[in-house]
Amino acid sequence: MTDRTPSERADVCVIGAGPAGALVAHTLARRGHDVVVLEAGERFEFEDRKRRMERAIRPGDDDRSVWDMGGPRDAYTSTGEQFYPLNRARVKGVGGSTLHWQGMVMRLHESDFDAWPISYDDLRPYYARAESQLGVAGADDNPFAPPREEPFPLPAFRPSHSDSIFADACESLGVAMHSVPNARNSEPHDGRSECVGYGTCKPVCPSGAKYGADVHVRKAEEEGARVIDRAAVQRLEHDDEGKRIEAAVYAAPDHGNGGTGSVEHRQEAREFVLAGGGVEIPRLLLLSKSKTYPDGLANTSGAVGRYFMDHLYAGMGGRIDRRTRQHRVGFITSECHQFYEDPARGTKGIPAADDAEYDRLKLEFSNYAGPTPVGLALDGDEWGDELLSTIREEYGNSVGMGALAGQKPRKENRIALDSGTTDDHGNPVPRIHWRVDERTKATLRRANEIQRDILDELGAEVTWHVGPENTGPAFHHMGTTRMGTDPKASVVNARLRTHDLQNCTIASSSVFVTSGAMNPTLTIAALSLKAADHVHERL
Ligand SMILES: Cc1cc2nc3c(=O)[nH]c(=O)nc-3n(C[C@H](O)[C@H](O)[C@H](O)COP(=O)(O)OP(=O)(O)OC[C@H]3O[C@@H](n4cnc5c(N)ncnc54)[C@H](O)[C@@H]3O)c2cc1C
Ligand code: SF4
Repeated sequence: MTDRTPSERADVCVIGAGPAGALVAHTLARRGHDVVVLEAGERFEFEDRKRRMERAIRPGDDDRSVWDMGGPRDAYTSTGEQFYPLNRARVKGVGGSTLHWQGMVMRLHESDFDAWPISYDDLRPYYARAESQLGVAGADDNPFAPPREEPFPLPAFRPSHSDSIFADACESLGVAMHSVPNARNSEPHDGRSECVGYGTCKPVCPSGAKYGADVHVRKAEEEGARVIDRAAVQRLEHDDEGKRIEAAVYAAPDHGNGGTGSVEHRQEAREFVLAGGGVEIPRLLLLSKSKTYPDGLANTSGAVGRYFMDHLYAGMGGRIDRRTRQHRVGFITSECHQFYEDPARGTKGIPAADDAEYDRLKLEFSNYAGPTPVGLALDGDEWGDELLSTIREEYGNSVGMGALAGQKPRKENRIALDSGTTDDHGNPVPRIHWRVDERTKATLRRANEIQRDILDELGAEVTWHVGPENTGPAFHHMGTTRMGTDPKASVVNARLRTHDLQNCTIASSSVFVTSGAMNPTLTIAALSLKAADHVHERL
C-alpha cells in the first residue's frame, strides 16, 4: 500500500505536481535537497493512456471524464458576468493540466514585461532552460518573436496541408504565417517517442510525444524526491511570529480498518513552494487564515485571488471546395504574431482598424476545424449510403482560424471562497468572479475582422464564428498572486517569494502581472526554474 505519511525531514515541500511543481522538484532534488511533493490528484498509469484515448474519442463522452475531473473534490461556483468552466480548464493529477493541454509553448514578447518587476532579459536564460527541459520543437522563422540566441532543441513540425492552403491567401494579403513552438517530439527525444499522429493530443497523447509534467515528476523521483499523490493540502500553518510557514496539512485516503475516509497529516519543511495552479493557490492561501492573518496568508496587500485573468478565444471557419485534411493533425502548426502588439495595424490586403483601445492578439490556423466523420454520423439521422454520401460531402473540406486575446488585470475579477458550498473535505470551494471588458471585446472583434478577410481571400463560405458574444476562456488562469515590488499592492517579489512569509515561494501563472496573449506554460516553466534557483540559494 502507498505510504502517504509525511517525511520526517524535508528541505522543501512542493504543493502541486503540474509543470511548475515538477520542474521545481526536479531542479531542487538534482541539487541534493530533500524534496516532498504533495499532489491532490492521483497518479495515472502511462499504460492506461490508450484506454483514455478511446474514451476521449468515443462519442458522448465528456472530455472531463478522461482525467476524472468533476465531482465534490472539484466543486466551484462561477458568479461573474461570464461563466467560467473551471473543470474543463485544469486537471488534477500527477502531471497537472499538462495531461490535457495542447502543448503550444511560446515566449512572451519583450513589451509584455513593461509592468512587471522583471524584464524579458531577466527571464531569457530561464526561457532557454525551459525550452530545453520541455523539449520544444520550433524554428527561427517568426519575425515578430523576441530575441533569442540558442536554437530550439528540436526541429519544428512541418506546416500542415491546410496551413499550405492558407499560405497563398495570407501571402496576397501581406499576413505573415510562421511555425508554432510545440512541446511535443518532432523526433524521438528524452526517451519518448516522436509524434505518431494520433491526433487526440487534447485531452490525451497515448504515445507520450506530447510533453507532460509527469516527465519531470519521474525525473525528480529518480533524483530522490518523494511524490505523494492523493494528498490534498487543506491549509498551511505558520509559526508564532507569522514569518514562516511551518507545515502543510494534507488529507490522504485512510484505508485503516478497510475504511474509505481520509486522514490528516502534517508535512513540515524548511521551504514551501506553492504550485497548485492559478485558482487553487489563492484558494489555499485564503483557506489558511489565522489569528495573525484573518484575511488569509500572504495577503496583507489584499491582492490574493484578485486580478484573475484568462485569454479569450475568437474564431471563424467554414467550407472551401478543396480537401483540407482537417483532424489529421491534432495540434496547431502555424500561427501569426504580426498583430500582437498592435491589433489595429493594417497590411497591404487588410485595412487598418478603428483607433480603439486593444489588448494583445495572437492568430492561429486550425488543423481540426469542422466536424469529424463520427460527429457527422451522430448529429444526423441518416443511415447507410445516404449517411456515407453526407460524410463524403461534409467532411474534409473545412477550414478554421482561432485567436487569443489578452485581458487587462482588474481588481474585481477574482477568486474568492464560497462558504456556502464545500468540497469533499468540507472546505469552501473557489468562487470565480469574472468579466470580459470592452477592451478585450474590441480585440476579439478585430480578430474576427482579420479572420474574415483571410477566409474571404481563400474563397471560403463562412459557417461559424466565435466573437465577443459567444467567446470563452482559453483555460489559462493568471494573475491571482501577482508579482511586484510594492508589498501593499502585490503578493510575491521579483524572486517569487511572498512579501509576507520568508519561506513561501509561488511558482505559477498566478504571479503574472499582465496576461499577454501567449499560451502561458513556457513562461510558467521559466519562472519556476527561476524560483527554484532562489529557493536553492536560501537552503
Ligand atoms: C485544455 C487545455 C489546453 C491547454 N493548452 C495549453 C497550451 O497549448 N499551451 C500552454 O502554454 N498552456 C496550455 N494550457 C494551460 C496549461 O495546462 C497550464 O498553464 C499549466 O498546466 C499550469 O501549470 P501549473 O503547474 O501552474 O498548474 P497545473 O498544471 O494546473 O497543476 C497544478 C497541480 O496542483 C495540484 N493541486 C492544486 N491544489 C492542490 C492542493 N491544495 N494540494 C495538493 N495539490 C494541489 C493539482 O491537482 C494539479 O495537479 C492548457 C490547459 C487546458 C486545460
Ligand atoms: S498527434 Fe498528438 S496525440 Fe498523437 S502522438 Fe502526436 S502529440 Fe501525441
